[in-house]
Order: sequence, then C-alpha cells, then structure tokens
Amino acid sequence: MQERKLVFATNNEHKLKEIKEILSGKFSVYGLKEIGFNEDIEESGSTLNENASIKSHTIHDRFNIDVFADDTGLEVEALNNRPGVYSARYAGEDGNSEANIKKLLEELSGKDNRNARFRTVISLIINDKEFQFEGRVYGKIAYKKYGKDGFGYDPVFLPDGYEKSFAEMTSEEKNRISHRANAMAKFIDFLSKESF
Ligand code: IMP
Repeated sequence: MQERKLVFATNNEHKLKEIKEILSGKFSVYGLKEIGFNEDIEESGSTLNENASIKSHTIHDRFNIDVFADDTGLEVEALNNRPGVYSARYAGEDGNSEANIKKLLEELSGKDNRNARFRTVISLIINDKEFQFEGRVYGKIAYKKYGKDGFGYDPVFLPDGYEKSFAEMTSEEKNRISHRANAMAKFIDFLSKESF
C-alpha cells in the first residue's frame, strides 16, 4: 500500500528524522525544505495552540496538503507561566539558550516556588480538519545548571521523580517522559487508530 504524504511544518532536522522513522510504513513525512518552502513563518500567536495552528494553516493554505506543526513552551508557576510561548526568545535573541537560562535564574532568584512544566501542542490538519494534541512534563527549575546534553532549558529543568536534569539524561531517558514525546504519542495513537 502506498504511504500517505504528510508534511511536518518544521526546519528542525532532528525532530524531522525522529518522526519520519516513527511514522514510516504508514505515512511518508516531508519537512518544509523538502516541499520547497523556505520562508519563515511568523509565530504571532499569544498561545502555544495558536502558534502551532498558525504554522499548520500557513502550509495547508499554500499547498493544500495534510500537515502538522508543533510548538513548545516552558511555563514557570512563580512567573505566571512565563516564558511560555516566548521561550525561544525570552532574553531577546531567538534561540540563545545561555541568555535565556541566565534570565530565568535571575528572575527566580530568591523565589522558593520552582514549579514548572514544559508543554507541547501539536496541530494536525488532515482531510481539511484540524486536531490538536498536548503533552506535558512537570518538574522544578534548579538553582544552577546541571549537565551538558540536550538543548534549550534542559540543564535547569529537573523532572519530577528524577534526581537529575534533562541535560543529564540520555536522549532515550528524556524521550520516555518528555512533553514532546507525550504529545507525539497521542498524535501517533490518533493517526494509527483512524483510517485515513
Ligand atoms: P519549539 O517550539 O520546539 O521550537 O520550542 C521553543 C523553545 O522552547 C526552544 O527554543 C527551547 O528554548 C524551549 N524548549 C522546547 N523543548 C525543549 C526541551 O525539550 N528542553 C529544553 N528546552 C526546550
């Protein structure tokens, strides 16, 4: 049987490779570069749901194709769920993890409530209908950085029930409990149960 085509609205090669492997046999997944889309999609929403939706709708409107997109944020209780949707550009410059972590630890200095969660939202448009899936992982923000692996806020995120940060975990360990893995599991479950 021919695999159905599905676009992942991302330029992140790591995420793309992972999802291609997971969905192989059922869907052939293409990234934005592979469909010839080289523009930046402005993430102008004020929630993760809106931003995921903006990305999937941008590609669906242009190519009229089945597509999904994800958006993730770190939500810190003592900061009223900031940086949230602004996690990548919290300290100003997009994707500067060092500066983002520095700013986070400064804002939390003197605060005892270190509760935080990562939340991922996936927006899927299939047969012209949108579906959303959400994954979460709860934890605490450490007082300093631990570990070298991972990316983003990993060195200061201590998932509940573990004695180490995300940056001290192997990718297998992190992928068993992460927000993204959680959202992806729901998304994959949906795709495998429905007959598209
Ligand atoms: P994105 O929506 O997946 O691009 O994530 C937005 C931002 O959230 C990233 O730039 C990172 O700063 C942060 N982030 C997302 N996922 C993770 C993670 O698994 N660990 C640490 N930081 C993350």
